[in-house]
Amino acid sequence: MIRKRKADNATKIFYNLEQLKKICAEWQTRLKLQDWTIDVKLVRYYEDIEGLAGQIEWWEHTREAVIRLLDPHDIPEPPRHGTASTDLETVLVHELLHLHFACCTNAKAHPPDSPSRIMIEQSINAITMGLINLKRESNN
Ligand SMILES: [Zn+2]
Repeated sequence: MIRKRKADNATKIFYNLEQLKKICAEWQTRLKLQDWTIDVKLVRYYEDIEGLAGQIEWWEHTREAVIRLLDPHDIPEPPRHGTASTDLETVLVHELLHLHFACCTNAKAHPPDSPSRIMIEQSINAITMGLINLKRESNN
């Protein structure tokens, strides 16, 4: 889960589902998550993703997951304060990293807004930004 936040990086690296799937496969390999079957979907603002920029659902026993990201068409440009991040690659990596924490992010044990869940989300955010920055620095 990643909450809507003020955008600080207006990078849009994909504009359609085909491009998203390619980027997701790249990150899946980079993060050593090849043993997961991951379905990615773009959802419109009027579909229910609980006001989030991204969302993931997973089934550990079958190692399957579905990631839903807000459609780039629904991200305002320029970004407005309080709107979803325009940096969908960051959102994607955040959601993928949840799979590494799957064993300790049970929703019953760690409900949203519980201290443990907030700590997990903050850890995932920190790792996400580290990885994204490394990738982008190495591309420059
Ligand atoms: Zn999250």
